[in-house]
Amino acid sequence: MMRRFLNKLRFKMLELRGLTDLPVIPSSATSSRQSLDERELYPHLFPNYKPEPIPEITVGSIITWFLIKLGLLILILWFLFERFRLQEYWLVGLGVIWLIVVYPAFMQYQRFKVQTRILQANTLCAKCRHFDETGHFCKLLDEHVSLTYTPCGGESWEANQRFNQDDDDGETFS
Ligand code: SF4
Repeated sequence: MMRRFLNKLRFKMLELRGLTDLPVIPSSATSSRQSLDERELYPHLFPNYKPEPIPEITVGSIITWFLIKLGLLILILWFLFERFRLQEYWLVGLGVIWLIVVYPAFMQYQRFKVQTRILQANTLCAKCRHFDETGHFCKLLDEHVSLTYTPCGGESWEANQRFNQDDDDGETFS
């Protein structure tokens, strides 16, 4: 209930900033409750979303920025701790690393997971054996996929095993 209210509040704020003109996810894609939540979260999680073939975040980008920020921060903290003899405040250093490096990476990963769920519900590529979930790209053509871009246009699509297994529970495809 509280989460729903906060999402609505965030959406209103984005609306005031003119950032809510985004693609709508069909309600039939998933269960109605999940779909509604995603539609509410989508503008909040992707306020700068543009329907372009390059994904906003991937596991690779999260790990790269994590390592870059961690490396720089360790150097800066090491310099400050040595320069001002702050060794007894090492816990503060850990807190700074958590705030600047670990927590943002965790939040990015949560956004990435939502982005993956949106692709799974709305694209052909997500059900193809050539789709790479960690980078949101097509392994066959080595191109990124998005809600609005299917690199092969559907011509090279092949059902992945997981999709076939899910399918066995419901309809049968020939
Ligand atoms: S082969 Fe086509 S459908 Fe499959 S992931 Fe690549 S672009 Fe998407």
